[in-house]
Amino acid sequence: SATKILARQAARESAARTYARHLPIVPVRAQGSWITGADGRDYLDCLSGAGTLALGHNHPAVVAAIRAVLDSGAPLHVLDLATPVKDDFTSALLEVLPAELAADCRIHFAGPTGADAVEAAVKLARTATGRRGVFAFTGAYHGMTAGALALTGANAVRDPAGAGDAYLTRLPFPHPYRCPFGLGGTLGESASAAYVRTLLSDPHSGTAIPAAAVVEPVQGEGGVVPAPDAWLRALRATTAEYGVALIADEVQTGFGRTGALFGVDHAGVVPDIMVLSKAVGGGLPLAVVVYRAGLDRWSEGAHTGTFRGDQLAMAAGAATIRQIAADGLADRAALLGDRLMGRLTGYQARHALLGQIRGRGLMLGMEIVDPTGEPDALGALPAAPATARRLRAELLARGVIAELGGRYGAVLRLLPPLTLGDDEADHLLSVLALALDTVSE
Ligand code: PMP
Repeated sequence: SATKILARQAARESAARTYARHLPIVPVRAQGSWITGADGRDYLDCLSGAGTLALGHNHPAVVAAIRAVLDSGAPLHVLDLATPVKDDFTSALLEVLPAELAADCRIHFAGPTGADAVEAAVKLARTATGRRGVFAFTGAYHGMTAGALALTGANAVRDPAGAGDAYLTRLPFPHPYRCPFGLGGTLGESASAAYVRTLLSDPHSGTAIPAAAVVEPVQGEGGVVPAPDAWLRALRATTAEYGVALIADEVQTGFGRTGALFGVDHAGVVPDIMVLSKAVGGGLPLAVVVYRAGLDRWSEGAHTGTFRGDQLAMAAGAATIRQIAADGLADRAALLGDRLMGRLTGYQARHALLGQIRGRGLMLGMEIVDPTGEPDALGALPAAPATARRLRAELLARGVIAELGGRYGAVLRLLPPLTLGDDEADHLLSVLALALDTVSE
C-alpha cells in the first residue's frame, strides 16, 4: 500500500531526499496534468517534474517517439556517436532556437542533468576567453554540482555543501520588491545595471573582467523572479562591450514555459551560450549547451562523460520540441499565464498572507508573507515559511501538487504542464481559493 511504500522508502533512503518528504504520495500512473497515486487518488500536477513535462505526462507524441526507437532496434546507448535519432533531435532543436544563434552555433550534449550543462557552459566560457571570473546573481539557482552550486545565490542552499569559487562575483539581481539597494521599481533595476557596468568599466572597481555572466531570464528556484527586459538588454550590451560571454540558463525557462519559446526572447536578447535541460528531453534526462560557433575553442574531451547522448531522451525531446511549436504552446502559456496571474492577484484582496505575485507564462510564484510583521523600506512584509508549508499541505490534501522555493522557502511555485486545460486551470484556482481560506483562518 501507499503508506507502506512511503514508510519503507523513508527508512531506507538518504536524509538528503527532498520532494518525497514534502509530497507524501506514491505515483503509479499519470496522464496529461494528472498523477494517480497508489492511494487511488488523482492529483493535479502543478510541479510537472520541476517544470520538465512541458506536454504533461505521457503525451501520445512523446510515448510514440520513445516506442518508435525501442521498436526500431536502435542502440539505446552508444556514448556520443552519431545516430539518426541524434541527427533528428538536433534538427528539431535548430528549428526553434533564436534565429541569430541557430544561424551559427555549436551544440554540445553536456550530460543528463541541467547542472552538467551549467558546468560545461562555464568551462567553455573560461576556455574561450582565457579568463577565470564569473558574474552570478543573488537569488540564482544553477544546480547542485560543486561548480553550479558555487553560482547559486542562496547561502542556505550553497553553504551546507561547502561550495565556493574564488573567482566568482555575485551581483544583485534586479528585484524591485526586494531591491538590495532599497530602491523600488525601475530605479532598482537601473542601479543594478549600472553596478554591473561600473564593475567592468571602472579600472578602480577592483574587479577583473570575467569570462562570463550567468543569468536566468526568470529565476525559478529563487522564487520566480523575472529579469526586467530593459535590465537584460543592458546586461547584454555591457557584456558584449567587454567581451564577457553571456550565459542564459534556460533550463527552466526554455521551450515555451514563460510564454515565449525562450525566456530571453521577451527582451529580444540573444546570449552567447544557452543552457538547456528539463523540457529539452521531453521528460527524460538530457542537457545541452548551445553556443556561438566562435566560442568553440575547447579541446577534444574538454567536457565528456558516459551519458552524453541518451537516445530515448533525444527522441522524446525532439517530439516535445515539435509539438510545442506545432500547437503554439508558448502563446498558450502566455495567455493562460496572464489569466491565472489576474485571478491570483485578485485573491490578494481577500488574503493578507499573499505578498507579491510574480511570474511569466506558466511559471508563477506567490510570496507567502506574515501580514502582522514589520514591512521593510520597500513595503515588503516578512516571508512566512511555516504558512507556505501549510498551504502546500492543504493543496496536496485537496489533490493539487505544488512546491515551494524562493527566500526562506516561502514562495508557492506553480509550474503546470503547458498543455494545462482551461478547466484544469479553473480547478487549480478553486482549490487554491479553498486552501487559502483554510490557511487564512
Ligand atoms: N538551472 C536552473 C535554472 C534550474 O532551474 C535547474 C533545476 N531546477 C538547474 C539549473 C539544475 O538542473 P538539474 O537539476 O537538472 O541539474
